[in-house]
Amino acid sequence: MSADQFAASSADTIPLLILGAGPAGIAAALRLIQYDPAWAKCLIVLEKAAHPRPKPCGGGVTYYGQKMLQSLGITLPLPIPHVDIHEIQLSYRRHIIHIFGKSLIIVFERQAFDAQLAQYARQKGVIIHENEPALSLDIDSSGVTVATPQKTYRALIVIGADGCNGIARRYLNRNIPCREMGRLLTAQLPAPGDSLLFTQHIARFDFTPIRCGLQGYFWQFPMVKKGLPAYNLGVYDALINKNGRRANLPELLTQGCRNQDINTAENLSGYPVHRFAPRNIFSHPRLLLAGDAAGVDPLFSEGIAPSLNYGCLAAAMVQDAFYRQDFSFRHYRRFLFKSSLGRFLLFHWAVAGLVYRFCRFPLFMPIVWLGGNLAAWLWSDQPTQIEYQPKSP
Ligand SMILES: Cc1cc2nc3c(=O)[nH]c(=O)nc-3n(C[C@H](O)[C@H](O)[C@H](O)COP(=O)(O)OP(=O)(O)OC[C@H]3O[C@@H](n4cnc5c(N)ncnc54)[C@H](O)[C@@H]3O)c2cc1C
Repeated sequence: MSADQFAASSADTIPLLILGAGPAGIAAALRLIQYDPAWAKCLIVLEKAAHPRPKPCGGGVTYYGQKMLQSLGITLPLPIPHVDIHEIQLSYRRHIIHIFGKSLIIVFERQAFDAQLAQYARQKGVIIHENEPALSLDIDSSGVTVATPQKTYRALIVIGADGCNGIARRYLNRNIPCREMGRLLTAQLPAPGDSLLFTQHIARFDFTPIRCGLQGYFWQFPMVKKGLPAYNLGVYDALINKNGRRANLPELLTQGCRNQDINTAENLSGYPVHRFAPRNIFSHPRLLLAGDAAGVDPLFSEGIAPSLNYGCLAAAMVQDAFYRQDFSFRHYRRFLFKSSLGRFLLFHWAVAGLVYRFCRFPLFMPIVWLGGNLAAWLWSDQPTQIEYQPKSP
């Protein structure tokens, strides 16, 4: 987009409004500024809270997310407390796949992570209006009107990066119920800093609760919370197979804690997650969705890395839209599906559909574990071990 084109938009109309200063919204703003620093003066990010704002999350940024951060010019390690994971344990009953590698996941306290991204964006000139929630969104042929408690904005384009329950996704789904919702239950508990997870830098994903109707896994990450070691624990239920029996998440989380000799989790909090599916609605003329609003990884519910990537794709679409002066975004779906993010999400969507539908057949999970083991062997940068733990007496 050229300066002339910016100037062509009327003084009262902002070229771009981004709803939400989470990973997707910040990535979109940063990528546009990478394209052209002039974008800093032509976009506003509206954020309903103020950083550092509470955000329920495991805070695990995978290797893929780390690459995305670097592509946005962000140097790692970030200057905030974190735990580097050098081993991932994927277990199903007594079978464990160990994946070894350097910084496979970096676990951050999520609110500090998001605040750091927002601070970096501000240093690059991004204007973030905090404590300013978008209350309504109206699209007409010449632009978008967004009302907040402070002001009514008029923009040529809006990127909806306001999360799974934000107004952008709800606007696009106003006539159809959204069926792609999963759920998560999480807790953060004080941990002994000398436990194996901290000394060996291990993250655990346990799929055994699939036997109790869960369509997902129990996770346990080591993290630093307010300067002290803590466990980040949770269960993810994809809810893909609507006909199966519904898992009791509080019971599974409590059981998972007991299995790891952790005092029963209290103060559990549950959250919805918007899963990616090819039938999701991703855009509308003058409106693009990014991050949770568009739909995240249905297999693992990984959202930070995909959201950073969604932000970058939305930025590319916006840049192209101004170049062509075409704000229909009719190619966004195809552009997304052809991208590395789209291929990643489509693959995980297909695997999640298969695994979470057929996981209760007796031989199915051991076969998946064989496949997973092969994948781990291919992708890990160190030899993978498969361990079979004998039944405890
Ligand atoms: C319990 C739990 C654990 C998770 N663990 C992990 C994990 O370990 N690793 C991982 O990769 N992913 C994890 N996820 C998923 C991840 O948190 C999300 O996918 C990710 O945060 C999506 O980023 P986003 O930018 O799209 O949305 P968000 O991070 O939700 O950001 C949206 C922003 O929009 C703001 N907003 C909302 N409404 C409005 C409005 N009307 N106006 C203005 N602003 C608005 C919000 O305040 C927020 O700051 C987890 C999710 C949950 C619920």
